Amino acid sequence: MSWIQTHLILPFTQPDRCAGLAGRLRSIRKFERMQEKAQRAEQQARLQRLLQHAYDTVPYYRNQFDEAGFRPSKARVDRPLPLPVLTREQLLTAPATLLSSSFQTEDLRPAASSGMTGAPIRFHRDAEAVRDKIALKLHFDSWAGFRPGQTVMRLWGASTSLTRESNWRWRTFETVFMRQLPHGQAVVPAEVMERWRWRLEKHRPRVLYGRATILAAFAEYLQERGTRYRPRTIITTAEVLSDANRKLLTAAFKSEPYDFYGSRDVGMIAAECSEHEGLHYHPWGSFVEFEPVGESPDGTLYRLLVTDLLNYGQPFIRYDTGDCVTLTEQSCSCGRWFPMAGKIVGRLAGGTVYANGVPVPGVRLDPNVAATDSPLLPLRAPWKSRSRKMNPRMAGAMQRGVLIA
Ligand SMILES: [Zn+2]
Repeated sequence: MSWIQTHLILPFTQPDRCAGLAGRLRSIRKFERMQEKAQRAEQQARLQRLLQHAYDTVPYYRNQFDEAGFRPSKARVDRPLPLPVLTREQLLTAPATLLSSSFQTEDLRPAASSGMTGAPIRFHRDAEAVRDKIALKLHFDSWAGFRPGQTVMRLWGASTSLTRESNWRWRTFETVFMRQLPHGQAVVPAEVMERWRWRLEKHRPRVLYGRATILAAFAEYLQERGTRYRPRTIITTAEVLSDANRKLLTAAFKSEPYDFYGSRDVGMIAAECSEHEGLHYHPWGSFVEFEPVGESPDGTLYRLLVTDLLNYGQPFIRYDTGDCVTLTEQSCSCGRWFPMAGKIVGRLAGGTVYANGVPVPGVRLDPNVAATDSPLLPLRAPWKSRSRKMNPRMAGAMQRGVLIA
């Protein structure tokens, strides 16, 4: 089924996203089979190629490189790029200056990222970047044992994610070819949880895929109500997976969840392997840098800067994702040297829970509620300051994310 999906069904039904998918997946697998030295050399070549392209075709970067006295051929993957950080504000205020002149704007694919407190950030990708990013995401799926064609139930939550592709063709493609059971919901009350439980037992999906807070809330619900079926693989993404939620998911589904890291801006760029020792940033798709910003109980915190090696339409170079991470010093038991984050701790778009315990996925906070975009904002772990008098249900809700009283 997987071969048919990657070689025939996906490329022919969704050429915009999946043309050449089999070859792209082969390229990633070939990269993974290479020795570490060859992989680093390949990543460096890809980095220099992207930087040279940015220098040649994006006036903004040409100015930045010239001011810094930097030449793309000097870039090395074992040291920071001596260039300014690209901020979200720059994407908001002057996105056109970041487009590559080697593409017609109408040939680029527009996309948007919704921050929690600000206006949507709009950006573009070239067609090949879109396809490469989908291939890398499917490759990460394979780390978790999830292959195209296997039934997956998505508990996503953000209604905006699902309205983007609301035409009947796309819905048919998702449900018939990709065997996806999408469940978008603005808030998740008990009756929705019950509907999810019913569908889980009826369709018996191999994979549960969704936001960490929503999956944790669903796991808690299943523990209370009981279930006759447990999916093989749990994949969490889009939010911080807290230790408490990891334990909860592991206990409820009898298998440890795979946490994936990505954003709309740069796509899926890191994932846990089967060893669950941290999240690997895949050097085929990005070059990541970590700038120390402070200390936390989990160790030194680093600001995550991403240079996207796939998007030539609108290059992202040293892009400040707004996320902070801790790093894992020891190498993973799987043998990959890829940079590894121990924890993603600074995600702004953490899960949100009403005071009555109802989780609200993917919500954007009112600016009056969260008055700053500072990446350090979420580091004040909300549950650490809870009162001893708080009722247990609310305390449990707070452990799953930010609390709106
Ligand atoms: Zn590993």
